[in-house]
Amino acid sequence: MTTVALKDVTKVFKDGTPAVDRVNLDVNDGEFMVLLGPSGCGKSTVLRMVAGLETPTSGAVLLGGELANDLPPRERGAAMVFQDFALYPHMTVGDNIAFPLRLAGVEPDRRAERVADVAGALGISDVLARRPGQLSGGQRQRVAMGRAIVRRPGLFLMDEPLSNLDSGLRAELRAEISGLTRELGVTTIYVTHDQAEALTMADRVAIMRKGVLQDVGTPTQVYGRPATLYVAAFLGSPRMNLLEASVYVHLDRYVTLTLGEQALYLPWDDIRTRAVAHYHGERIVIGMRAEALTPVTPDTQGDVLYGRIRYLEHHGHESLAFLDIGATAVVVDEMGTPVDQPVPGERGLRRFNQVVQRITGRAGEPA
Ligand code: ATP
Repeated sequence: MTTVALKDVTKVFKDGTPAVDRVNLDVNDGEFMVLLGPSGCGKSTVLRMVAGLETPTSGAVLLGGELANDLPPRERGAAMVFQDFALYPHMTVGDNIAFPLRLAGVEPDRRAERVADVAGALGISDVLARRPGQLSGGQRQRVAMGRAIVRRPGLFLMDEPLSNLDSGLRAELRAEISGLTRELGVTTIYVTHDQAEALTMADRVAIMRKGVLQDVGTPTQVYGRPATLYVAAFLGSPRMNLLEASVYVHLDRYVTLTLGEQALYLPWDDIRTRAVAHYHGERIVIGMRAEALTPVTPDTQGDVLYGRIRYLEHHGHESLAFLDIGATAVVVDEMGTPVDQPVPGERGLRRFNQVVQRITGRAGEPA
């Protein structure tokens, strides 16, 4: 059983600013945890402390509930896969995968059996006799994975393992990696700055900024209910609409949200009212995903936000409308297909103008 726990872990390098600042994080047995954040936010340093390649300046790293701060890397039962995985160029693929077993003194027959199993699972059985120089990037990365899993570690630590690959291969391998680690039931910590990778692979995502952990949750939780404004703005494309609003709770039980010159009236039993009512008299930031803003016809009553379209961006299956209220909306017509390109004088423009006069606002929780 491999669990990982970080308790108030801080790492300060020589220059004095903490690269990791009082991070608390629990990774459950068999869980796929992704550390996500921009370059330099400290995610690799967290991973290296779990691996034993760095020592925390303060705080505790626990593996399987035991304090591991001073445990040497080889005694941690962890296998690492990096971005620039180094395979031995003079050895065959089979020997590369078998290498950790040879170091551990495993018998040749048993070694060959394990290598065959691993190669089968990774779809590289037919290249075992080749040398790394004769492989594609994706195959090389599979070999690196093979070398990591062949020892059946209790813990996988992966640092941007796909970042040197092209996008098609990345998508393919990310499904394979998350499938494989789940099949093996191995606890995994995976570092990336790529949010698509994080949201598609993770059981839970931990988002960092400047050494500080901002939010931890399932992909749905961090996307739908981000804990901080930073996470709200960081996750998702297009960026979440973040609009300033004033909150006023009326005694006859409804709430007004004032955004610029517009007001949204929220009935008392609306779930959004619960989220904002305790901010009576305050200015807050409300977050609205573009996909939560739906175009409506001009005669629609109720909580409607008005905005003039500045421009449209077409994305094939949908279009994005950028509005002068500082918001972005996803626009689809009644048939669920994208609104036509608005060309002056053509039907598309007329229809579009009609559609976008009013936009319903569904506010998320204040970030
Ligand atoms: P990237 O995605 O670019 O690798 P990261 O989020 O993994 O970034 P880290 O590599 O953990 O970030 O680095 C966090 C901070 O710590 C950075 O400011 C970095 O310059 C600094 N840092 C990392 N390793 C060392 C070191 N050995 N000595 C001094 N500073 C370091």
